[in-house]
Order: sequence, then structure tokens, then C-alpha cells
Amino acid sequence: MSIERNIDLVYERIEHACETYGRTDAVVLQIAAKTQSADSCFQAAQHLSHSAHPILLGHNRVQEARDTAEAIHAIPHSRIHLIGPLQSNKINMALSCVDAIDTLDRVDIIEPLSKRLMHPLPVMIQVNVSGEITKSGCAPTVVNTLVDAVNECDSLILTGFMTVGLNSSHEAPVRRAYEHLRLLRDRTAQRLNLPENALELSMGMSHDLEWAIAEGSTRVRVGTAIFGPRIR
Ligand SMILES: *Cc1c(COP(=O)(O)O)cnc(C)c1O
Repeated sequence: MSIERNIDLVYERIEHACETYGRTDAVVLQIAAKTQSADSCFQAAQHLSHSAHPILLGHNRVQEARDTAEAIHAIPHSRIHLIGPLQSNKINMALSCVDAIDTLDRVDIIEPLSKRLMHPLPVMIQVNVSGEITKSGCAPTVVNTLVDAVNECDSLILTGFMTVGLNSSHEAPVRRAYEHLRLLRDRTAQRLNLPENALELSMGMSHDLEWAIAEGSTRVRVGTAIFGPRIR
């Protein structure tokens, strides 16, 4: 099946899940582009543009983001976010090609990052809510510290929270982890005197986006269901 058709099908899944779980706010698809060719990324972005959806791509690797950024950014209103780990030696390259960093997970990256910024950068805090030690993301217990450190930095704009879910086919534990992120978001919004919807929730992938939407996801990151299984 084509990338275009697969994107339509994913949006159908999103709409169906929104109906099922009584969601009336928008849930956006972010194309998880890791290992895909620049051509495939461009094809996906163009289809989002033609179908009047937000043109949002996520790259895990800074190099891959850089290799596709020029073509993608030629499409008006397109945005590329980093959804993989940010190493301090890649900050310059990242800032040259991404519009946001969704994987801020430690305080010590904030200073080197902000020092290089020419204009405000939207960031999400990545939290490890699954407790799996192999996962990136900060521990839930340091969320407040990170939120405050980001807010003290004029050049970083906190836009929400991101997590990679529990790798399981069982609904209850997967949803519990997503619920945990939503509760962290809700408490943060309350603490900062913000409406809850001022902070996004980036959670849910190909196999579990419905469960993430049930728990309040506002952005699902989907790769496999659009491009097929990764071969690399
Ligand atoms: C690969 C990846 C995705 C997409 O996963 P699929 O199962 O291919 O949909 C989403 N988010 C991150 C951070 C990823 O690395």
C-alpha cells in the first residue's frame, strides 16, 4: 500500500479513536521518519500538505533530520522535531535543521542548548513512565525540576511532555503508563497556572495509538503503519 493511503488510514484510526473515547480536541499525526529515505519523508509531508493536515515530522537521528530538512522545509508550514536523544555534541547540527526538540530529559543539556539559540525554541520534556531501564526520558520524580529549569530559561518554550510507551500488547499496563504522563501534565499545568490543554502530550505509536488517545494524547508518532516494517 502507498504512503498516502497509509496516512489516510492512520488518520481514520485517529478519528475513530477520538469518537470512541469522547475526544473533541485535535489529535495530530507526527510522521516518525527514522531510517526512511528523504524521498519517502517528502512524499509523506506532501500528502499531509495536500490533505490539509499539519505537516509534522519527527526524526530520531540528527543526521537524518539534516539530510531531509531542506526538502521538507520547502513545503510551507512544515515542521521537523527531534524525537530521539540529543547529544551535546550534536546541538549545533540539531539547531540547524529542527524546529523543536521533544526529548529534553536532563538539566545539564539546557545551558549548552540555550547558549546557542538565536530565537526561542519549543521543547517537550521526555519522561520515562514505563520504568523500563532501556528507555530514555527523565524519571517522573525529576519532572518538576526540569520544568522549572526550562521555564527559567528565556529561550526555551515548554510545549508539553513526550514519552515512549511500554513495549507490551496488554492494554491495561500500556494505558497506565500513558495515564501517568497525563497526570504529570495535569499537575504541571496546575502548578504553573496554565490550562491543561496548554501542554501537549506526545504519546502513542503504530501499535497503540488508540490507547494513547484514550489517555489524552494530543500527538501520536507513527512510523511502521505508514512506511511498513523497518528493514534497517
Ligand atoms: C520509531 C519511533 C516511533 C514510531 O514507532 P512505530 O512503531 O514505527 O510507529 C515513535 N516515536 C519514537 C521516539 C520512535 O523512535
